Amino acid sequence: MPAAAQGAEVAIIGGGLAGIVAAYELMKLGLKPVVYEQGRIGGRLRSQPFQGAEGIIAELGGMRFPISSTSFYHYVDLAGLETAPFPNPLDPASPSTVIDLEGEIAYIEGEHDLPPLLREVQEAWGAALEAGADFAALQAAIRARDVARLKEIWNALVPLWDERTFYDFVASAAAFQKLSFRHREVFGQVGFGTGGWDSDFPNSMLEILRVVATALDDHQRLIVGGVEQLPRRLWAHAPACQHWPAGTSLNSLHGGAPRPGVIRLSRASSDKIAVTDRWGDTRLYPAVLATCQSWLLTTSISTSEELFSQKLWMALDRTRYMQSSKTFVMVDRPFWRERDAQTNRYRMSTTLSDRLTRGTYLFDNGPDRPGVICLSYSWMSDAMKVLPLSADQRVNLMLGALKSIYPELDLTQHIVGDPITVSWENDPGFLGAFKGALPGHYRYNRRMYCQFMQSELPPAERGIFLAGDDISWTPAWAEGAVQTALNAVWGIMHHFGGATDPANPGPGDLFDRIAPLKLLD
Ligand SMILES: Cc1cc2nc3c(=O)[nH]c(=O)nc-3n(C[C@H](O)[C@H](O)[C@H](O)COP(=O)(O)OP(=O)(O)OC[C@H]3O[C@@H](n4cnc5c(N)ncnc54)[C@H](O)[C@@H]3O)c2cc1C
Repeated sequence: MPAAAQGAEVAIIGGGLAGIVAAYELMKLGLKPVVYEQGRIGGRLRSQPFQGAEGIIAELGGMRFPISSTSFYHYVDLAGLETAPFPNPLDPASPSTVIDLEGEIAYIEGEHDLPPLLREVQEAWGAALEAGADFAALQAAIRARDVARLKEIWNALVPLWDERTFYDFVASAAAFQKLSFRHREVFGQVGFGTGGWDSDFPNSMLEILRVVATALDDHQRLIVGGVEQLPRRLWAHAPACQHWPAGTSLNSLHGGAPRPGVIRLSRASSDKIAVTDRWGDTRLYPAVLATCQSWLLTTSISTSEELFSQKLWMALDRTRYMQSSKTFVMVDRPFWRERDAQTNRYRMSTTLSDRLTRGTYLFDNGPDRPGVICLSYSWMSDAMKVLPLSADQRVNLMLGALKSIYPELDLTQHIVGDPITVSWENDPGFLGAFKGALPGHYRYNRRMYCQFMQSELPPAERGIFLAGDDISWTPAWAEGAVQTALNAVWGIMHHFGGATDPANPGPGDLFDRIAPLKLLD
């Protein structure tokens, strides 16, 4: 960074992972990030503690983090956080799995005894990916870090699948056409890895291809003690920084708390943007980074239209957010590790169901501590079904559905403390859980993702940057929040006249070589 820019203020709207990572890196570069947060630091990384117990939490947002999320894990390691395998269905981290479809219950222990129907579905999915997406070659190129080959394969898939849905991909695949409708239904309910893929059936197939190609649904781990610790630890961490004295952290730069939520954004002059907080305090900044969900730029923040082109506004407003709800209870102990004396099966299992609950997950905090059950994790219409209901009403509904699957188990005997529930779409600071791009949204994604490259923008649109998983190509994954934050850091550094070490180029330096394919508008 040029000396003249050292200490310059950059407003950051949102103290979620994208905002905190960007703030942390900008601080290291010698700038002064000023974080505005309308709620609590962490955003959709929210680890809600159960009342009355120490360190027992419900992960209301991000909870399982694939090891392929290398930028995310860079910060997990830096923050010194411990991780453990996530107890997904059919994963060794789950003692057992139950799949309950149309009243038929499959009980599975270990990875190798999949019922024939599930095995056929799994094989069909593998064959469909190979035939429709050159999948083995795509993965080989990723593993070999062969960018040229990767782009050659991917760029051919973009026009083929941007405008077609995930369901279309499955239904038109030869491997699935040989099988029954029931196979497609089962695939939608179970998926492979995390369950519940039918909620994504209307999404663009490109969304799904990115998930499977980058192994986002595989080898997932949880953060012991809760992922909210990650943004909080980065907030408190004091790295070596240009310009700032030893011991400087985001916390010390902010005097212990972020600034309040933002309600207005406008251009104050050719080189300053005005940021107004909820109490009416207006401050001027040479650069602003907005990391809140993009709909909020028109709902809770009055944003001057001139800050973005109409084409970008189209993209920001057309962004489609998915709904999601989770309901948790704390239980006296991890009783799902005990076997039923009569059947010799575990008393309860990680459960995928076509009932209201959809996904039920079991979190073991050790033999002498309370356990946590996520009674239900659902998306889209399943999440909407419970939107107006209270926590107790939701718990009762879920217990009713689970009773049909586990008639012998009295879950109520195990529940302790108050339940915890969330519907992200019901929170005015989010309005949805995460982006899920619809067919035809590739161009919108590209406009948002590439906005950090500002040299060719008209002057009135420079100085305001975007980041967050909804700006990324991998919405619903924390990795997308980190990657877009780092892109924005490069953009802001460049905006202030800074440059990277040529031996360690940043995303903007390599942009011409690795930029996403441009489709004609
Ligand atoms: C239900 C659910 C499950 C998920 N599961 C996973 C998972 O298993 N694995 C995974 O990798 N990812 C998962 N994710 C995604 C992950 O949580 C996100 O990618 C990540 O937390 C996004 O970080 P962000 O900074 O982009 O956005 P956010 O966390 O949304 O941060 C934006 C911040 O802006 C703030 N804000 C909003 N309006 C204003 C305003 N006017 N002024 C100031 N601040 C404002 C918000 O309060 C928020 O803190 C999940 C998300 C949800 C909701």
